[in-house]
Amino acid sequence: MKAANIRLAKTAGFCFGVNKAVNMVRDLLDEGRQVCTLGPIIHNPQVVEELTERGVRIVEVPEEVPAGCVLVIRSHGVAKSVYGEIEERGLRCVDATCPFVAKIHRIVAANSGEKTAVLIAGDPGHPEVLGIRGHCAGTSFVFRNREELAQQLKIIQSGDFASCIMVSQTTFHTLEWEKCTEIAKKSCTNLQIFDTICNATANRQQEAIHLAQQCHKMVIVGGRESSNTAKLRDVCAPYGPAYLVEDALEIQRDWFCAGETVGLTAGASTPAEIIKEVPH
Ligand code: SF4
Repeated sequence: MKAANIRLAKTAGFCFGVNKAVNMVRDLLDEGRQVCTLGPIIHNPQVVEELTERGVRIVEVPEEVPAGCVLVIRSHGVAKSVYGEIEERGLRCVDATCPFVAKIHRIVAANSGEKTAVLIAGDPGHPEVLGIRGHCAGTSFVFRNREELAQQLKIIQSGDFASCIMVSQTTFHTLEWEKCTEIAKKSCTNLQIFDTICNATANRQQEAIHLAQQCHKMVIVGGRESSNTAKLRDVCAPYGPAYLVEDALEIQRDWFCAGETVGLTAGASTPAEIIKEVPH
């Protein structure tokens, strides 16, 4: 990317929640503990590989944790039933659920019930959304966009619900969220909306849009499995080419022309070292 001028987003890279989770694992390893994580601790293959080399094992369910291992819950959080299983098995557990995600768990637990439907803006297959659903006392409905929201609202209206609450995955697309809340307000008379997109995500998306508007092209660095990285690409794409790469090796020189200005940002799970390599 030497021929181009690079503008790096100030909000690029590790957010507070991911940083805390990775540091918790590193601290446990430094103390000489055997560590398991419930799913990969971060959507970044390089960091996961570094931790695996230090002995960290990735498990899918608490049942797989070997005796003597400390289990770390990642920043995405888990369903209430998983906490129950961990307790039942008497496992030592370190909870790295991001406080912003834990707040959503408290909101849905306190405000849902048999007659109150929970609408969740997010990806139905994402672990954070599965965790949020697992703290709802009644039925929850997940939608990724306005079209899916309209379908879910029809189902809710044909059901026996007295009220609705609406929350979002912390990394949901901010502009889509605003449009979805407008639609929901028109359809539900008894609706409570909780804006649960985290500040780190909202700020990163806004800065990415601003950069994309000012630059010829955008490069977004992050894991392909990372929801917030994919959203960064989506919010930049309307303004010009937006390339998603996992590291500097994936950059193709013919993407850029001399004299172009290229905006560079990165998802919440991209370490600073990987971002620094990209402009070279
Ligand atoms: Fe927490 Fe936000 Fe980072 Fe998710 S993106 S881990 S909610 S700070």
